[in-house]
Amino acid sequence: MFTKIELPKLSYNFDELKPFLSEEQLQIHYQKHHQAYVNGANAILEKLNKARQDSTQLDMKSELKSLSFNLSGHILHSLFWENLAPVEKGGGGEPSGEILEAIKNEFGSFQRFKEEFAQAAQSVEGSGWAALTMFGDEKKLLISQIEKHNLNHIPETKILLIIDVFEHAYYLDYKNDRAGYIEAFWGAVDWSKVANRL
Ligand code: MN
Repeated sequence: MFTKIELPKLSYNFDELKPFLSEEQLQIHYQKHHQAYVNGANAILEKLNKARQDSTQLDMKSELKSLSFNLSGHILHSLFWENLAPVEKGGGGEPSGEILEAIKNEFGSFQRFKEEFAQAAQSVEGSGWAALTMFGDEKKLLISQIEKHNLNHIPETKILLIIDVFEHAYYLDYKNDRAGYIEAFWGAVDWSKVANRL
């Protein structure tokens, strides 16, 4: 049985993440780019399913590479939308409680964390992501770069916070100013959602 992956519903309207993202930038990113990864993943899952029923062979190396790219793209975008919120609904500000303690414990201060995270996001080669992740029972925090949607990801780490630095995520609003986009990102981070994932 094949259950199709679907684009997740957003908890805000396209025009509500201003000034971080314009309505047009958010709408195209979500409806065109994220939808394309959903469609891509569904096409491969459907093909795998059909091949099992027909007992035919597929080029597994190629199909699985494409599945990893598209399904990871879908999952990472879903996390990205979730960790954003309009200012009136909790976006921006600073973390508190357990997540703040964990950040201070690992990075020394929230400011130092922001600097390291921004440097990671700024220096992703080509298209990719920067993520705050958590590893192991002791909940050690790590920053990682995830090139494309799947390279350099560290297994068994849980993503707490993520930023999309593919050009499609910011080019309409920021042109080539990735640093400006990353700086504005902090104004839309919903720390309560990040804390919920800890
Ligand atoms: Mn994207």
